[in-house]
Amino acid sequence: MIVAERKPVEEIKALIAGHGTVCVLGCGTCVTVCLAGGEREVAVLAGALRCGNNGHFSENTIERQCDAEFFENVKDQIDASDAVLSMACGVGVQMAARLFPNKPVYPALNTKFMGVSDKAGEWSENCLACGDCKLGIFGGVCPVTRCSKSLANGPCGGSTKGRCEVNPEKLECGWQLIYDRLKSLNKLDTLAEIAPPRDWSKTHAGGPRKLSREDVAGL
Ligand code: SF4
Ligand code: SF4
Repeated sequence: MIVAERKPVEEIKALIAGHGTVCVLGCGTCVTVCLAGGEREVAVLAGALRCGNNGHFSENTIERQCDAEFFENVKDQIDASDAVLSMACGVGVQMAARLFPNKPVYPALNTKFMGVSDKAGEWSENCLACGDCKLGIFGGVCPVTRCSKSLANGPCGGSTKGRCEVNPEKLECGWQLIYDRLKSLNKLDTLAEIAPPRDWSKTHAGGPRKLSREDVAGL
């Protein structure tokens, strides 16, 4: 999922200052799951914004803000508002801005990364969407994301007791994880093969990416 967290209320108040009627709009998918921008968080934020503020804050949560079709149900509400305060990830915020070109749209969240929930209240980054997934070679552990230096051919030599030298307190060494995983699969011989240089043009380094699929274009 896309993991996000809410901006401080004071920062949000500064963003929407001057708008009389604001639609606080949640998203029912990733940010609901990571407890940042779903129906509950919309109610909490709208309540906080009403404190000491004369503005009017309407609330709604749609299934997905990254899909235009789900905005149909809130079109009238947004048209009647001076601005939208989106509690979606950055993708949803940009979709709202695209669909309502004359309406100010503000982000209430900071979009952090694509990742997983480790335990209650903790998430970690797992995929950088490199466009050429190699998890099949590395035992299901991503060297691009889980190694702080995105090394493709083994560890840098700086790890200690399985921790990454970039931040031993917080980070496991991704290459230790790859080694342990391949060892448990009895596939350590995989590491004898030198991985060729990655084509970074398939990542965001090659500019904003697009995907076209003729097989589903007419559906
Ligand atoms: S190899 Fe690329 S696509 Fe696969 S998990 Fe890692 S970053 Fe994501
Ligand atoms: S210590 Fe491990 S995770 Fe950290 S940069 Fe080196 S190889 Fe990558």
